[in-house]
Amino acid sequence: MKIIGLVTVLFAANVYANLHLSPPDFDSANGRAVFVDFKTAEYNITYDTINEVTTVKSKITFEAKTEGKPLFDLVPCPDLVILDGKKVKQNLISFPGGVSKLRQVTTAVNPGIHTLEIENIIDANVIFHTDFGVVSSAFWIRDLKDRLFLEQYVPSNFEYDQYQMTFNVNFLGIEKASQDFYTNGKVTKTSDVSWKIEFPEYFTVSCPFYHMTPKGWMKRLDFSYQSISGREIPMTVYSPWKRRTRKFKPEALRVIKELEADYGPWGHDSFVGYGTMIGTGGMEHSGATATSFGALDHEMLHSYFAKGVMPANGNSGWIDEAIASWRDKGYQRNPTTGFGGSDLGGQSVYKRNTDKRAYALGAAFMAYLDYKLQDSGGLKAFLKGYFQTYKHQVITEQHFKNNLEFFSGLNLDADFGTYIWGTNSDTEHLHETNLHHSALTKDELKSIL
Ligand SMILES: [Zn+2]
Repeated sequence: MKIIGLVTVLFAANVYANLHLSPPDFDSANGRAVFVDFKTAEYNITYDTINEVTTVKSKITFEAKTEGKPLFDLVPCPDLVILDGKKVKQNLISFPGGVSKLRQVTTAVNPGIHTLEIENIIDANVIFHTDFGVVSSAFWIRDLKDRLFLEQYVPSNFEYDQYQMTFNVNFLGIEKASQDFYTNGKVTKTSDVSWKIEFPEYFTVSCPFYHMTPKGWMKRLDFSYQSISGREIPMTVYSPWKRRTRKFKPEALRVIKELEADYGPWGHDSFVGYGTMIGTGGMEHSGATATSFGALDHEMLHSYFAKGVMPANGNSGWIDEAIASWRDKGYQRNPTTGFGGSDLGGQSVYKRNTDKRAYALGAAFMAYLDYKLQDSGGLKAFLKGYFQTYKHQVITEQHFKNNLEFFSGLNLDADFGTYIWGTNSDTEHLHETNLHHSALTKDELKSIL
């Protein structure tokens, strides 16, 4: 109970300063590696239609709390890095234990506010339709393998951090750009060849949805939903086919109504759903998803758990997949988990991706928690309060456990110790893939642009 009080106070005093949720700083071959707190990130994205190149010039304002060489990530190698106005170098390094890679600036900073300017090229998920003078581009993300969040495209921080992002999108080589934008940010047209997209401050590196298509190429339906909060929520569904788009509208309305009844008012400004082909699964963003029809409900649940209340790290990623799968399986209640133990959430503190076993083992653990919490109204009653209290905040699995204990009065040390932070006695589900989050190849991801 004490810990809960402390956590709440920290959040209240320091809304989006999440450095206390970062993994520990460490020593690399280049010196002390320090995690930092991004404040704002402005990404100037230019589509050069003559040379068919997409470049990004980024300006990031960040705060360092301790002296050291700052960490960030960017999958493409940066062409230029400027720290506080001076050109510097960066290195691709490994996290301790080699669990993932990231980038470290080779110049140390003192505690305080700094700026980082970075230039790079985006290769992934862009198609220049030269004959038509238009471009298809999307920042698709994935969470089951690491380095597949925004760092695929633009310099980014890690999941613990929340910061205001702005995309300034420009076109070179044409007089008038003819494009549509599907996004969970606020879009403003700034000239015939440029747009500004501003994302909310609570977003993390896995929240923005950005899909730009040639004008009119997608068939869209815009409508609104009257939330139980009284708010009109703008909703957009779209796909390449009128028939598919028409099928998505009633399902999106059905699911948002169900979710509001279970977990309270929708937590985002709007909803945007891109209907992809059968078998492609889906990926969730905050109030947005790109998904096949069969996974639409699963991905919309994630606007509550995953992108409404957001995981701080890979170890905490199992929670939202467990909740979503528990719902997919009809909210079962079981007196046992049906497995002996696992290390689902007990792996390296530097791990960035979600363990695939979260679907099977995590859902079974939720069914067991629902059984244990039945005298307090069950797990759904807890989740409703948890979402309303921590909406737009980044959480850890320890925070989740503390709140479950506070809500139920139970001590869950032994259960978490065995099923989440234990030794892995389950190999059956280790390589299982989930139909809601199919592993698409690079070509498949490009094919849905
Ligand atoms: Zn999921």
